[in-house]
Amino acid sequence: MYLYNTLSGKKEEVVPINGKTISFYACGPTVYDFTHIGHIRSYIYNDIIRRSFPYLGMPIKHVMNVTDVGHLSDDADSGEDKMEKGARKYGKTVWDLARFYTDFFFSTMDQVNNLRPDVVAKATEHIPEMIDLITILVEKKFAYETEEALYFDVQKFAGYGKLSHQPLGEKLKGVREEVYVDPQKKHPADFALWFKRVGRFKDHTMYWQSPWGDGFPGWHIECSAMSMKYLGKTIDLHSGGIDHIPVHHENEIAQSEAANGVPFVKHWTHFYFLQVDGKKMSKSLGNFYTIDDVKKHNIHPLALRFLFLQAHYRQLLNFTWQAAEGANEAYLKLKKLVLGLDTIVPKNKDLSVQAQAYKKTFKDAIADDLQLPIAIATLWTMLKDNQINNFEKRTLVADFDQVLGLDLLKENNTVNTIPKEVQELAEQRKQAKQEKQYAKADDLRKRIEEKGYKVEDTKEGYVIQPATL
Ligand code: AMP
Ligand code: ZN
Repeated sequence: MYLYNTLSGKKEEVVPINGKTISFYACGPTVYDFTHIGHIRSYIYNDIIRRSFPYLGMPIKHVMNVTDVGHLSDDADSGEDKMEKGARKYGKTVWDLARFYTDFFFSTMDQVNNLRPDVVAKATEHIPEMIDLITILVEKKFAYETEEALYFDVQKFAGYGKLSHQPLGEKLKGVREEVYVDPQKKHPADFALWFKRVGRFKDHTMYWQSPWGDGFPGWHIECSAMSMKYLGKTIDLHSGGIDHIPVHHENEIAQSEAANGVPFVKHWTHFYFLQVDGKKMSKSLGNFYTIDDVKKHNIHPLALRFLFLQAHYRQLLNFTWQAAEGANEAYLKLKKLVLGLDTIVPKNKDLSVQAQAYKKTFKDAIADDLQLPIAIATLWTMLKDNQINNFEKRTLVADFDQVLGLDLLKENNTVNTIPKEVQELAEQRKQAKQEKQYAKADDLRKRIEEKGYKVEDTKEGYVIQPATL
């Protein structure tokens, strides 16, 4: 398997250091708010990685953290803890908030068919491991203490900036004007390993005892501590969104390598962002969508997965409802095509030369830096090829779906099969209601029901469902 490595700037083969299993660490969500479709895009790619290695014959161990403490609102050391801020906003305790959004995250992941990581590690359950790691950094003199916190001294780590290819001097210019700066901090890029429960954090609800007083860990240390605990000091592969390159991942490398004296990660992979209507997703812009919004638009969660698989992970992707609707139609068409294949099993079950060639094209696309657009194009071409019999087609679909995770052979009634004409009738009914033409609206409801569907009005708008459900 070849993946682009952010560290070297080249596509390189990922080979397990221990000769057996790929060790894979994926930076997980900060559970202070709803998981949105941008997160979904990134975690679908983690899932594709996790499915692709075994598909290509290499077992993988997939570890993901859940950040439930220590991630400050500006990703650096100023601002507030995102969890504390979220708890206040929603009137919940930090613990309830973490539970609620962790559940929402995993429910979202399940709906888009992302397999659960082998290990899910919560930051709050790994405080002793983090304290041990910080202790090593203190002993090795890579950390210093101020009245407010314990910091990693970036100027002591020669390799700082190697992932983002930004020397420390240049990095200085890029550091944002922080909301709050500890006056005892030696360098703007120094980052907190431990925050003391003093000053602006004197009322912090989550805190633990440590050799440096009561407090809580900085954000970055959790990933180093947990990666080491579950996968070892040097791992094969580490992933995250591109926003993590300059700060979070640079800091993970610094503290891990300073403590252990060996390389932290051989291969770094980063996912490009999802934009919505050409803009960053944010609540204030009203373009922040969750899986529930997707379903309200009658788009199947797996159609969203299908949409995301059609852009390479190193491409910025722009989400529009029009593109999502198009993907929904294409996904339904694909499923119909697959489920319409007869299930006759021939005497000779060996794949023909042509069928084997399709399998190879698919495999090669996956192994070449996850070229999923090519993999999906191969699937379509194969399905339309008359030289391949239906048994071979079903066999290949089952094979490809191990990686794609689109449930292509699964017969179920949860797929949105609402025909366009029914959707149009529902739109006309909405229009009629808005114009207070109630008789017309009732008539349209009847016509929808005649077609085997029912329409219900909710606070967020109407929902169409098959009448049999
Ligand atoms: P967070 O919960 O903000 O720490 O984000 C969890 C993961 O989702 C990180 O790897 C982010 O880089 C990624 N992520 C956040 N926003 C987006 C987006 N709009 N598109 C793609 N990935 C994103
Ligand atoms: Zn991380």
